[in-house]
Amino acid sequence: MGLKRLTDRIYYLEHEPETDRPMLAYIRGDKWSLAIDAGYSSSHVADFYGAIEAEHLKKPDFTVITHWHYDHTFGMHAVSGVSIAHEKTNEFLKKQQEEAEDSGYIEALKREDIHFRREYADLDRLDIVLSDLEFSDRMTVDLGGMTARIFHTEAPHSEDTACIYIPEEKVLFLGDSTSEDFFNDGYMDRDKLASLIRTIRSMDCKYCILSHCEPLGKEDLLCYLESIL
Ligand SMILES: [Zn+2]
Repeated sequence: MGLKRLTDRIYYLEHEPETDRPMLAYIRGDKWSLAIDAGYSSSHVADFYGAIEAEHLKKPDFTVITHWHYDHTFGMHAVSGVSIAHEKTNEFLKKQQEEAEDSGYIEALKREDIHFRREYADLDRLDIVLSDLEFSDRMTVDLGGMTARIFHTEAPHSEDTACIYIPEEKVLFLGDSTSEDFFNDGYMDRDKLASLIRTIRSMDCKYCILSHCEPLGKEDLLCYLESIL
């Protein structure tokens, strides 16, 4: 599976429903390149980097994490360059590291989640790391002719939600932020969703990118979100 091109300088590896792998994005600046999310495992990272090399692009200099869930972060040990995450993401990952000290943890995840079982079919250990750089509210990375504006926001899916806005291409990456909280019995907090809708509406973006969907237009996404509010 190869990279798809969203805009002039934004590419992505599609999400995979079979394993629930999220899409991984690649932003090409004149000076630096930045990836969005580290992916599920070292093999997910290897597939992404293989697709990047097939396009004669260089490996990412930075990788930004949208939130701590394992399908977005457990590949972080295998990324090249510098990783960036919100401070709460690292707090959650620290807890995951502690859980994973128990060798039964990976087996428990395999039992509980059929997607995890498929992704880790040939793997019997986890390598969970925290990010190299951490931010608390927002940070901006100047990639050279392209800017990644990374910001923490309130969202129903997780407390550590980070979104990434690329103003030059009018693209907003939302991770899984619009979904319910799977770690709280699938609870959908409508106040948090309303707050996130206001955030999305305030952004000058054309595309809204959710990690487990095809790219969406801003109005299509807002229309859907307002229908479930
Ligand atoms: Zn998630």
